[in-house]
Amino acid sequence: MNPATASPSIMVVDDTPANLRLLDELLRQQGYQVRLFPRGALALKAAAAHPPSLILLDIMMPEMDGFEVCRQLKANPSLKDIPVIFISALADTDNKLKAFAQGGMDYVTKPFQEGEVLARVRTHLALYAMQQAQARQKADLEQLVNERTADLLRAQQVAHIGSWKLDLRTQALSWSPETYRLFGVPEGTPLTLNDFVDKVHPDDQGKVAHHWTLALQGQPYDVEHRIAPPAGAAWVRQRAEFAFDTDGQPHTAWGTTQDISEIKAHQAQVDFMTHHDVLTGLPNRAQFLDLLRVCMANSSTLQTQLAVAYIDMDGFAAINAQFGREAGNQLIVQLGQRLAQSVRDRQYLARIGGDEFAVVLTGLKNADDYLIPVQRMLAAVSKPLNLHGTTAQVTASIGVSQYPQSDDMEAEQLLRQADQAMYLAKLAGKNRHHVFDPMKDESTRERFMHIEEVRQGLMQGEMCLYYQPKVWLTSGKVVGFEALIRWQHPQRGLVLPGQFIPLLEQHPLAIQVGNWVIETALAQLARWNAEGLRTGLSVNIESLQLQDPDFVPRLARQLADQPSVEANQLELEILETGALDNMAHVSRLIAQLHGMGVACALDDFGTGYSSLTFLKQLAAQTIKIDQSFVHGMLDDTEHASIVNSVLGLARSFDRHTLAEGVETEAHGQMLVELGCEMAQGYTIARPMPAEAVPAWLAQWHPPPSWQTTSALEAGDVPLLMGEVEHRAWMKATQARLAGQQGTPTPHSHDTCRLGHWLDKPTTRQRYGHLSAFQTLVQQHSTLHALGAQLLQQATASGPEAGHPAHQHGLDNPDTASAWHHLQAQSAELIASLQSLRKSDEEPLSISSAG
Ligand code: C2E
Ligand code: MG
Ligand code: MG
Repeated sequence: MNPATASPSIMVVDDTPANLRLLDELLRQQGYQVRLFPRGALALKAAAAHPPSLILLDIMMPEMDGFEVCRQLKANPSLKDIPVIFISALADTDNKLKAFAQGGMDYVTKPFQEGEVLARVRTHLALYAMQQAQARQKADLEQLVNERTADLLRAQQVAHIGSWKLDLRTQALSWSPETYRLFGVPEGTPLTLNDFVDKVHPDDQGKVAHHWTLALQGQPYDVEHRIAPPAGAAWVRQRAEFAFDTDGQPHTAWGTTQDISEIKAHQAQVDFMTHHDVLTGLPNRAQFLDLLRVCMANSSTLQTQLAVAYIDMDGFAAINAQFGREAGNQLIVQLGQRLAQSVRDRQYLARIGGDEFAVVLTGLKNADDYLIPVQRMLAAVSKPLNLHGTTAQVTASIGVSQYPQSDDMEAEQLLRQADQAMYLAKLAGKNRHHVFDPMKDESTRERFMHIEEVRQGLMQGEMCLYYQPKVWLTSGKVVGFEALIRWQHPQRGLVLPGQFIPLLEQHPLAIQVGNWVIETALAQLARWNAEGLRTGLSVNIESLQLQDPDFVPRLARQLADQPSVEANQLELEILETGALDNMAHVSRLIAQLHGMGVACALDDFGTGYSSLTFLKQLAAQTIKIDQSFVHGMLDDTEHASIVNSVLGLARSFDRHTLAEGVETEAHGQMLVELGCEMAQGYTIARPMPAEAVPAWLAQWHPPPSWQTTSALEAGDVPLLMGEVEHRAWMKATQARLAGQQGTPTPHSHDTCRLGHWLDKPTTRQRYGHLSAFQTLVQQHSTLHALGAQLLQQATASGPEAGHPAHQHGLDNPDTASAWHHLQAQSAELIASLQSLRKSDEEPLSISSAG
């Protein structure tokens, strides 16, 4: 095509040379470029090579007439728009019509008028130029549109946003390529609204339909939904605008489809992270409590039980310290996997703290159905773990709480109970489980309430120590003192340890209090040493202190801090019951302390069901006989026997003995006779503040009877026991006479143990030759006869026999006088018994005296 600035080129085709010349001259004068062709075929060829702006074409020519030339031109797409003006001598209408039919633009008859030819040429050239310009413009526009569309599509692809249009009347739907891709449908697939509906994920169809309905009523359409697989995107957000006709009927919707899969995945991740533990991927505490709430509700509806197991790794802090935090984390992951493998259907595991996991066990039928899963978990944890090629082993302590309990309760509370039970499982020795007992919960709560107070008291220096002497019975020599804690409470006054020490049982505060006691006691010893008062001091140790791994090293430091104090001035009193809990450990500890020169005593001995093995294993140097037995020993045969047995046991194992709670001279005397070495008690001194000690020491002297009394030979012990038995009998008789209900019937002569002993051949063999023995036998039977008579008399004169109430039992003058008589007889019997023990006349042989 010629550039618009160049002059138009015109092709003239005519077999008449004169015509050619004429036209050539005419057109050139007008400034056109002219090419002349005498034959049609030549002209076609040249036109194809260089298309002209216009062709003047003769019709009648040899070889190919003008019609044919025109037909061929019009058949060529690149030439068809070139205007053709026929110039012919054929002036009839038929030929003219034929010429137009062939695509000719115009028709000029020969001989032509120059002006006419020129006018027509100009007109058609102008038309053609306009046409060309339009075509160019159209092509430019098309190109622009194509470019813009391509840009848009590319942008859609980048943004993962597709577009669509729906004709609501025909249901015809069109998607952009990106929409096709997002929906996972091959591009170009014909669509209707139904195809779109089918691609919405079945679970979201309800939601989408709801929004669609609202949109048809004029509300904005904006909905997120999943796409039914196979899909290009998991989640999309659809937004659309609807166009309405004048009747308010929607007719078209234009929308976008945005891929929000990534946002959704991210959201899900955030969701997961707020409900799960990042390290193990297990549910976290918050999620666990949600779950527990649901399980508790279900359990109420289904009438089943559930249990919560609170799992805490034993000594995990040490593992972290030894291997480092990173390795500790790896172990936690492994432990989490182990636990996850050990849980079954309807058991839900979570990580609720550093080394703490929890499991809900649901659908339990029996109260102890938790047992098997709990044991499985303990076993799962304790299997060796792999840590960078080395193995590590961990155990767990598990606390279990059960639901339902009597009251309504919260999930948090149930978890807290399991936590408390876990704590007790740890204290009981770890690698085990403990079940929360709701009955003991009250006391636990109480305990937590008071413990804070005790802590405050300790911090504010309200604690102090009192000292109670311990003496050798026969010599009266002071062995040392026992330090006993007191709480000088600002409101309540002096509080005794019985009111707060038991609260601390198994609470870490016990260790703090214990340390304070040891430090204070050692400081007191140092002060006494400085004053020239060198003595021993014993302190009471809680069993929790013994479990503290730092106990011995710390004690060594505490001793080192008081260089004037020697280790053997200190004695630790360990409760027999506390030692029983963890024999092996306490036994090692005592040996260790022994090695340091610190002695140990077993406190409150006799209350803990100790066995011979126990005593053999614990190398405590001293046994302190519990005061409850000492108190009763004078007139209670059981207690007297226990004291006697403990003393025998101590002798066999070569241990020192100390009797606690010696309240009277008589107690001390009997203890001397039974062979007890030391004593502590009110008759010697009450616990006193340190300042009172020197004054007490200055005035102390033991009762003379303790020095004059000596230990009995084993064979004579039954005489002493006989005395106890007799006192017991007197006590029972008196109680009966006083009409006390529920007192045991005093032994008759036949059931009386003293009677049995008196009758024994060995007894008769040993004492039979002594006159005092004969008297004794006589006194014994007289006493029983009197006693029986008295009781009968008293019963007969009881209120039910019609006597006035004030005359009942000992109020009855007859009975009272008979009772006094009996008492006198009793004193004589006791004197006989004692005279036999102290008899200068030798008993015959020392044989077993049963
Ligand atoms: P315990 O170690 O058996 O101490 C002897 C208790 O018996 C003391 O009571 C003492 O005052 C009391 N007692 C002494 N002689 C007699 C007596 O003749 N008759 C009677 N009825 N009681 C007597 P206290 O001081 O009230 O202490 C009671 C318990 O509290 C102690 O029993 C000991 O187990 C514990 N305790 C005292 N101080 C401490 C301490 O510093 N730490 C620890 N962990 N426990 C302590
Ligand atoms: Mg004690
Ligand atoms: Mg004691």
